[in-house]
Amino acid sequence: MRVAIVGNGVTGVSAALRLRELQPDWRICLISGESKYHYSRPALMYLFMGHMSYSDVKPYEDDFWEAKRLELVRDWATDVDVEAKTLALHRGAPLQYDKLLLATGSKSNRFGWPGQELQGVQGLWGLQDLRRLYDNARATREAVIVGGGLIGIELAEMLHSRGVHVTFLVREKSYWNNILPGDESAMLNRLIRAHGIGLRLKTQLAEIHDDGGGRCCGVTTDGGERIDCQLVGLTAGVSPNVDLVRDSAIATGRGVLVDRRFRTDAGEVYAAGDCAEIVDPDGGRNLIQQVWYTGKKQGEAVAHEMAGRGADYEPGVWFNSAKFLDLEYQVYGRVNTGVPGEANLYWEHANENRAVRIVHAEGRVIGFNVMGLRWRHEVCERWIAEGASPAHVLDHLRHANFDPELFRRYEREAVGAMRGQLS
Ligand SMILES: Cc1cc2nc3c(=O)[nH]c(=O)nc-3n(C[C@H](O)[C@H](O)[C@H](O)COP(=O)(O)OP(=O)(O)OC[C@H]3O[C@@H](n4cnc5c(N)ncnc54)[C@H](O)[C@@H]3O)c2cc1C
Repeated sequence: MRVAIVGNGVTGVSAALRLRELQPDWRICLISGESKYHYSRPALMYLFMGHMSYSDVKPYEDDFWEAKRLELVRDWATDVDVEAKTLALHRGAPLQYDKLLLATGSKSNRFGWPGQELQGVQGLWGLQDLRRLYDNARATREAVIVGGGLIGIELAEMLHSRGVHVTFLVREKSYWNNILPGDESAMLNRLIRAHGIGLRLKTQLAEIHDDGGGRCCGVTTDGGERIDCQLVGLTAGVSPNVDLVRDSAIATGRGVLVDRRFRTDAGEVYAAGDCAEIVDPDGGRNLIQQVWYTGKKQGEAVAHEMAGRGADYEPGVWFNSAKFLDLEYQVYGRVNTGVPGEANLYWEHANENRAVRIVHAEGRVIGFNVMGLRWRHEVCERWIAEGASPAHVLDHLRHANFDPELFRRYEREAVGAMRGQLS
């Protein structure tokens, strides 16, 4: 049996490793145009800032792959012929497969802005972008970043660390308020400005200007403001990367359409991770998950399916964590505010950037949003999965602290404030 996996990100690699365990004799080939060896994409910023070397961001030694009998092909796949079960490659000879996994990830959104193809204009997704950034940052004093979110703020921090002054253009009235509740989003606005980063809210990019030699030299906003800059970062979200199959027989929507076992509508072709759009069997909203841990989880699940031991994918309790500049952030479950029937307990430190939000409905906790503190994943997940009551959570909040030995504790203050909100 020959398995081809396009993409060696966390999804493709998790699938390959699990498949190797389940099927010791199958031939498994990982194809990626970006790099021969898998590396940790979230660590791109630490590579740029010199905190880690390239070998540090590769989770496995280079000889690991041979030991696992996983073939690595560094090439771009350019076409899939589902009838002939062939994958066309940019440089190499076509690859025959019996089973194909598409794990092609995401790509940065571009919205057809005038000037978006100029030199000095770039997104941040892979190693090629990082190389471009090294070059572009060298001659940059002022940069404009279009779009908020996690990748935008990482790019801002990366440039800031090189002494570049950054201005954000954010369409929303507050940073990332399409994901974060209002208080936490307001905290981020303050944090960004306190770091000396310019933040223009309710502002969109209208045009990027050419210096006459094909390189950007400034932008104009939709409000008519002109900002001079030598670099424009486009971080207005990401979309599933369906480039490889858009014109093939495999059905796509926003992502590659799959059922809850990651099967596409083409025989023996699967898709998982950032590129996959899981169709809701009941006609509800389809599921696209574009974070690291879901890539790992989906990669392992699709491997089981490909090996003939699959089950319907259960997304479980939503989780994400990141760092906004020096601020830790974690979210578990659902934390959208203003949903009828849901109530919020909220504590925010008077002078430090720390906050805890506990969302509950019908006597059960359904979400946590934690800023400036680090909590234990398994504890928060269990409370949500078991439907713990808000009172139980407040009584036991100390168990959520990630490392009580090393971190200052805020539970007493937080619990005191939130108990008063429970009625
Ligand atoms: C800067 C940055 C920071 C991030 N930080 C976090 C974080 O803190 N926490 C978090 O949860 N998530 C984070 N993410 C998101 C996370 O990295 C992704 O969700 C995850 O990498 C998705 O994994 P994947 O394997 O599905 O796709 P990807 O990691 O995108 O891998 C897909 C691979 O397929 C290759 N490929 C695509 N098309 C082809 C083709 N036609 N031929 C050959 N190869 C192809 C691509 O080049 C790429 O190497 C971050 C992302 C970025 C860019």
